[in-house]
Amino acid sequence: MPTVSIARCPTYDPSEVEAALHRLLEPLGGIGAFVGPGQRVLLKPNLLLPARPERAITTHPVVVEAMIGLVREAGGEPFVADSPGGPLHTRAGMHRVYRDTGLQEVAERTEVTLHYDATAVQVPTPDGVLLKRLDLLEVWQEADVVIALPKLKTHGLTTITGATKILFGLVPGLTKSGYHAKLADLDRFCDMLLDIVACVRPALFVMDGVLGMEGNGPSLHGSPRQVGVLLASRDAVAMDAVVCRIIGLDPDRLSLFRAAARRGWWPVEVTVTGTPVAEVTVPDFRLPDTTQAATRRTGRGRLSQLATSALTPRPVPQRGRCTACGTCVRICPLQAITIVDRLAVVDDARCIRCYCCHEICPEAAIDLEFSRLGRLLRWSGMLG
Ligand code: SF4
Ligand code: SF4
Repeated sequence: MPTVSIARCPTYDPSEVEAALHRLLEPLGGIGAFVGPGQRVLLKPNLLLPARPERAITTHPVVVEAMIGLVREAGGEPFVADSPGGPLHTRAGMHRVYRDTGLQEVAERTEVTLHYDATAVQVPTPDGVLLKRLDLLEVWQEADVVIALPKLKTHGLTTITGATKILFGLVPGLTKSGYHAKLADLDRFCDMLLDIVACVRPALFVMDGVLGMEGNGPSLHGSPRQVGVLLASRDAVAMDAVVCRIIGLDPDRLSLFRAAARRGWWPVEVTVTGTPVAEVTVPDFRLPDTTQAATRRTGRGRLSQLATSALTPRPVPQRGRCTACGTCVRICPLQAITIVDRLAVVDDARCIRCYCCHEICPEAAIDLEFSRLGRLLRWSGMLG
């Protein structure tokens, strides 16, 4: 029976975070249950964009710094690695990410190594259900232990992004686009996410939910929302299930949990220790506009594609905000975006609604808009 530990933590005051982490890990056996002396420990935060911590897009640097301290307390040797999408996986891009997210300062204070190298390695996934090989950051192989540090956020494609999805960040840079292209069906995409979990097998997940994100996450269109918690578990699916309870979402509506059910990982009884869920639930937590449609994206084939196209919002770059920087052009897995007259233009017929462009646009210039039919169905209540 998987256990999820919850600790209340209302602010990012370093001493408060440190104390909360100790409380959080105690019921799981303390950090020593996960890290031994001399072990190389990969800390994998969510570093989606070069964004300041108060935007709640990335794992807060105070949480990362406290985890560095804990790993060292156990005699481990921590290092930090991630691979943001789009053009950010280059050395210059990673420098901006580390600088803006506050991790550069953490590294200067703690002398922890930050990784810049996005070299990929193909690894076999004997426990994979969908994929038998995965492309992952080579540096992953240097770790004796992986500790994932997800952020509690909404996500346009998968509704939430938390413990299960964070490991997609170990797929290097633009290689992610290839996975989106091959796995346009959301159920298959979620199967792939679980294959990564089965392959990487993090020893521990510690989630930053102090300042979470609601609305049209996971990036600049989302809104920071005070949740005031840290969570820890050995089990990604159990942790995400508890997140669903905290934000008032039925996990069985999500493709992620349907994928987990297909391989026997869900439903499971989850033991919650520490602060009870009822004490930290967030009323009226806003889900992404895509949620109602996303939870229905279960079928395959032409009819399903047509339904997806009609019922899911499409990305629409906005003149006035778009700077024609081309970032979305480079990340789009279907080459569905071109720059015309200094404005990004989406070919709706090619678009698979992965929302990578919406997520990565540095100007938040891509809005999600429902078709007339989609608006009508939403208005009628048939989509929600
Ligand atoms: S929509 Fe955003 S990412 Fe695309 S070209 Fe315009 S500013 Fe750049
Ligand atoms: S246009 Fe945007 S949402 Fe559509 S396939 Fe390309 S990246 Fe994905």
